Amino acid sequence: MSHSLTDLLDNNRRWAGKIESARPGFFTSLLQQQAPQYLWIGCADSRVPANELVDLAPGELFVHRNVANVVVHSDLNCLSVIQFATDVLKVRHIIVVGHSQCGGVAAALADRRVGLADNWIRHVQDVRNRHSAWLETVPEGERVNALCELNVIEQALNVCQTTIVQDAWQRGQEIIVHGWVYRLHNGLLKDLRMTVSRLDDAGAAYQDALAAVQARYAELARAL
Ligand SMILES: [Zn+2]
Repeated sequence: MSHSLTDLLDNNRRWAGKIESARPGFFTSLLQQQAPQYLWIGCADSRVPANELVDLAPGELFVHRNVANVVVHSDLNCLSVIQFATDVLKVRHIIVVGHSQCGGVAAALADRRVGLADNWIRHVQDVRNRHSAWLETVPEGERVNALCELNVIEQALNVCQTTIVQDAWQRGQEIIVHGWVYRLHNGLLKDLRMTVSRLDDAGAAYQDALAAVQARYAELARAL
């Protein structure tokens, strides 16, 4: 085994020891059940570790990550996570979290070929194409971040449009969908106000969130 992997296992033993001494019985209590309130759908990027960013312990956050935090209606992996989180764990919040300077989003914006992942990133290009006229008005240096935010809003809308979440709302289950973006340069999360707690509100929330992003980048363009 390479030296670096030995380090990881050593780190793990230290981590488990630290948690167990701070909260005796912590791990055995998790054996009984997990009852997270939140489902995090984020990017696979190593700089965006879900639990750490919101300071939640194991057992408190159900997580799905993929390249560029995409929610596709035919992706059984993501849909299964949403279904389990909604129907079995009964999470109260589903949060789609993008991040600034996302490599997947940057590749989508620039039509950069990276390999098989091009086919996945296509979904972000669909977002780019839907908003291409507006993106043209954004200063070039800010376009990746603008598309990162648009992508969050679109993917959060996709969550609302899954049969899983719609059925949950239909039967009166309380579940709120959110869209956030994480800023790599300062470690802060921003709420993009794509907050939806029932299907009828999805369209208006989508329009409001888009308008807020557009206003913010328009202001930025004026300041340059
Ligand atoms: Zn990313």
